[in-house]
Amino acid sequence: MTNARRPSRRRIPVQPGLVIERLVPVYGPVEWRQRMDPLDELIFTVLTQHTSDLNAERAFKQMRTRYPAWRDVLDAPVEDLTDAIRSGGLANQKSARLQLILADILKRHGRFDLAFLGAMSMDEARSWLLALPGVGPKTAAVVLAFSFGMPAMPVDTHVHRVSRRLGLISKKTTADDAHPILEDLIKPEDRYMAHVLLIAHGRRTCKALHPLCGNCALNDVCPSRETQV
Ligand code: SF4
Repeated sequence: MTNARRPSRRRIPVQPGLVIERLVPVYGPVEWRQRMDPLDELIFTVLTQHTSDLNAERAFKQMRTRYPAWRDVLDAPVEDLTDAIRSGGLANQKSARLQLILADILKRHGRFDLAFLGAMSMDEARSWLLALPGVGPKTAAVVLAFSFGMPAMPVDTHVHRVSRRLGLISKKTTADDAHPILEDLIKPEDRYMAHVLLIAHGRRTCKALHPLCGNCALNDVCPSRETQV
């Protein structure tokens, strides 16, 4: 039967709902809880840039021990602040950025407190944060999602990599550009859970260099499986 038609092997795009359904049993259910005060979250997220959460936590603790008040961080000689956050990496850049951010918050809001953003719509709060010096889509989304429980979808390196491999975004989509795309694709109530699950999956299974496709709960639907094995 050489003319017999074979069933089409065209893949159906992976749906975010299926990803969540498959990953919850692997990495556990996810419940939102406020991680920190919004200003702490913002500053901590700046410290996490290009380093591990562990290094950023160490830098954050050292900075808060040396400078308990945000005013002290703003007024500190920049080389002393650099020294305090050195364990977080890129300390020269980050110390200057932290002082610019704090100065801008003081200028625009009059005090070191971001709780007022919780009364805004997500779009308004995001715009306010994005206007701060050096604050990009990921940092803004982390503050919105983790401090206020707003349905923002932060795209870090793990979320970006796994989303590309699963075909949720194209291979050419940058992490910054992925924010609105994934927010359109994933239901608001699922975004926080999707963020946490994709990070867990990226850290433990869909690793950057050697993804463990053989153990992956999504390997029957993942369009990258063959190329990654
Ligand atoms: S099958 Fe491989 S590439 Fe695809 S999501 Fe799983 S680990 Fe990642």
